[in-house]
Amino acid sequence: MDNLQAYPLLVPIFQDIENIIGKDTYDMWLRPARFSYEGTVLTISLPNQFWGKTIRERYQHIITDAFLKHLGAEISVVYDVAAQEPAPAVSSAQDVIPARPVPAAPAIKKNPFPSRLNSSYTFANFIESPSNRFAYKAAEAVVHKLGNRENNPLVIYSSPGLGKTHLLHAIGNQILKDNPNAKVLYMSGEEFVSEYIEALQNKSSESFRKKYRSLDCFLMDDIQFVAGKAASEVEFFYTFNALFESRKQIVLSSDRTPQQLDLDERLSSRLLSGIIAEVKRPSLETRIAILRQKRESINFDIGDDVLSFIAEGIQTNIRELEGSLFRLVAYCGMHGVTPTIAIAKELLADILVSETDLSINVNSIKKVVGKHFNIKMEDFNSKRKTQSIAWPRQIAMFLATELTDLSLPEIGREFNRDHSTVVHARDVVKEKVAADPFFAAEINQVILDIKAVDKK
Ligand code: ADP
Ligand code: MG
Repeated sequence: MDNLQAYPLLVPIFQDIENIIGKDTYDMWLRPARFSYEGTVLTISLPNQFWGKTIRERYQHIITDAFLKHLGAEISVVYDVAAQEPAPAVSSAQDVIPARPVPAAPAIKKNPFPSRLNSSYTFANFIESPSNRFAYKAAEAVVHKLGNRENNPLVIYSSPGLGKTHLLHAIGNQILKDNPNAKVLYMSGEEFVSEYIEALQNKSSESFRKKYRSLDCFLMDDIQFVAGKAASEVEFFYTFNALFESRKQIVLSSDRTPQQLDLDERLSSRLLSGIIAEVKRPSLETRIAILRQKRESINFDIGDDVLSFIAEGIQTNIRELEGSLFRLVAYCGMHGVTPTIAIAKELLADILVSETDLSINVNSIKKVVGKHFNIKMEDFNSKRKTQSIAWPRQIAMFLATELTDLSLPEIGREFNRDHSTVVHARDVVKEKVAADPFFAAEINQVILDIKAVDKK
């Protein structure tokens, strides 16, 4: 909840609100808002009037109820609408809307163990498809056979925005549904590191340890944040072992394979002993199915043709895919128009993949790079390691990762190499681009040449 950074106290309240209204609705209406809270006044800053009206009519009573439940306070809500709106700005005085009176605080059902789960992410609203089927099935198996050696640990990896976090929460939510007393904890690698550091400072590492070791299921997201941070990694290793030895379930996610993580060898081999599942990029059909599901959950009138258009233009990241849908819906709602392909095209121009981008293939990259650096086409796939050949080859691999839609293993195949060689090539060239402006300019020229070749 990055719009609540200044108010950590409010995070659980808004988490609750998100759980009640659902993630999609929250993303659509409340995520773009800014909140500030003073005394008993919550100020909601919004991009335009349309937003304010919707929140007031549909969600304000849920917000005030959540505050009452968590803080025991009856709050007033003030709307602060951005000035760019042509409609008369709402003056704050008349805009203080008294919260709906609630006679007595409702009984609070306390969760016996703070799992930090977001109940909006479930198996039911995760679209299963060939690109995620293995990870999905493995996640389900974990729930049914908690702690079973065969599925322990489960490591899910993918590039960003493809559903890792969703699956981790879905596992936790399902476990709690089956057994409400289970001790499940969801945590990101970043949180683990910062809580560990905090525990060290407060000399409370013993209770830090106890907390983890009493779990039935530990869900840790984005473990790449732990890798390489020596002390936290050691602590994580002990936690991991303690849970593993007592047959408790561990589920981890990462933005790369365990082999690619810079981990201690013992930890790395433990991770490799369980199930490792990659979530791949979704196909067009899957992307359309996801958009249809989102349409249903926000209940907005938008045609299949427009959904297909968005799905074709956003191929690599589901977060961006749904973000684009929300952007379009918000825009059309605000202007009172029906979404069309033309509006989508204009509004999402900065993010949609254009046809020229799509047509770039590895062959034209090789051609242009070969010409520029004076090496032959066959040298790209040969085993020759002379620097004068290896360097342009690495540049071509880097460009393939930047300019094509191919996965790392697919690019590897185009160069007769495995994907780790591509990762290495990408990283060294990227580093040089960042460090050397002359080289960056040269690469830019090469990219322009490649695009020009592809337009022919
Ligand atoms: P990651 O953790 O891999 O970066 P997330 O789990 O945060 O990705 O997913 C990004 C967004 O896409 C989330 O809103 C999630 O609900 C949605 N999403 C991802 N995969 C699916 C899917 N298969 N079905 C429905 N929604 C999905
Ligand atoms: Mg994530």
